[in-house]
Amino acid sequence: MSTNAHVILVKRPGTNGTPTADNFGFEECPFPAELEAGEILIKTLYLSVDPALRCRMNEDTGVHYVTPWEIGKEIGGFIGVGQVIKSSDPAFSPGDIVEAQAAWPWVALFKRKQEEQNPLRKVDTSLLGGKLTLPLTVLGLIGLTSYLGIKEKGGIKPSQNQTLVVSGAAGACGSVAGQLGRLEGCTRVVGICGSNEKCQFLTQELGFDGAINYKTENVKERLAALCPDGVDVYFDNVGAEMSDTVISQMNKNSNVILCGQIAVYNKDVPYPPPIPESTETRIKDMNINRTRFLVLNYADKFEEAMTKLAELVLSGKIKVRETTMEGLENTGKAFVSMMNGGNIGKQIVHVADPS
Ligand code: NDP
Repeated sequence: MSTNAHVILVKRPGTNGTPTADNFGFEECPFPAELEAGEILIKTLYLSVDPALRCRMNEDTGVHYVTPWEIGKEIGGFIGVGQVIKSSDPAFSPGDIVEAQAAWPWVALFKRKQEEQNPLRKVDTSLLGGKLTLPLTVLGLIGLTSYLGIKEKGGIKPSQNQTLVVSGAAGACGSVAGQLGRLEGCTRVVGICGSNEKCQFLTQELGFDGAINYKTENVKERLAALCPDGVDVYFDNVGAEMSDTVISQMNKNSNVILCGQIAVYNKDVPYPPPIPESTETRIKDMNINRTRFLVLNYADKFEEAMTKLAELVLSGKIKVRETTMEGLENTGKAFVSMMNGGNIGKQIVHVADPS
């Protein structure tokens, strides 16, 4: 193996711009140099593309925890799964499957030293039931976000007949959050998503009680019909008008899990974005709890959450869906597709098979 290739940023989408596949380029790049002590040579097998990466396309990301991508430079991605090809770190051996939940570059082969901040973890493949992509979905940040969002901000109390509404419901976090909300005790779970196929996935495969296609249906009317007792918990992945509509039907002392606001990620606004006065008033009048949720603030709970998630997924209590794009060269395309709703469940990229 002596060739290598990576994805680069060719141009930024510009202020309030929608990303397109031609913002990204694909080119050959040098094969990693000989390993120094402690370094590991890794072959990328699977990559995750995530909404949080959108802000890195801007000159200013607007958040403290990530830096902008540079024009002409390799894309520093987020989550990945790979295989160790060579190692001069005694903790890793050739053939090991590894994953990292941050800083995985969009490149075929790279070398890396173990570091405290973005650790590489050896994956016990026997615990994955042969599914190497689980660290990109439920056994990684996606699962943690859904689980800790529901647990820490949901205020779900079994026996209180609560209604949970999830926006972005057929996506990676949304589809897991809805299932977890049910397991936590919500008696009614309703999802909002962008196609009839997604609605069917939610109601027929995941057991949601109802689903609304926001592109073709009147969300306000359908919500009122599907949630006759109002909304007690809202797992918000989307924001903007959709969330104003949901909040307008929320009960007293209810809870918004402010997970993401993807409807405004292409807009040059701060995060979380401002909300209309009428929504502010509703939140105040109904004593609705709505504070920012960032999974990275709960690192001390990751281990316990991961154990629980592994139990749930391996026992079949949580179902996981993926949408796969083939080829490293199509990673930018996969990102754009995900931002436009092309995915059901988690959008991943299959780069190579393990050897
Ligand atoms: P998804 O798998 O849900 O993919 C994104 C989905 O968003 C698309 O499939 C699309 O589905 C929907 N979407 C895109 N644009 C719009 C729009 N304008 N209006 C309504 N829906 C839209 O992504 P993730 O599960 O990875 O992320 C979901 C959310 O969770 C994001 O907001 C993300 O930033 C957030 N997040 C937050 C974390 C935290 O710590 N708080 C950690 C990780 C993720 P559709 O067809 O339904 O339109």
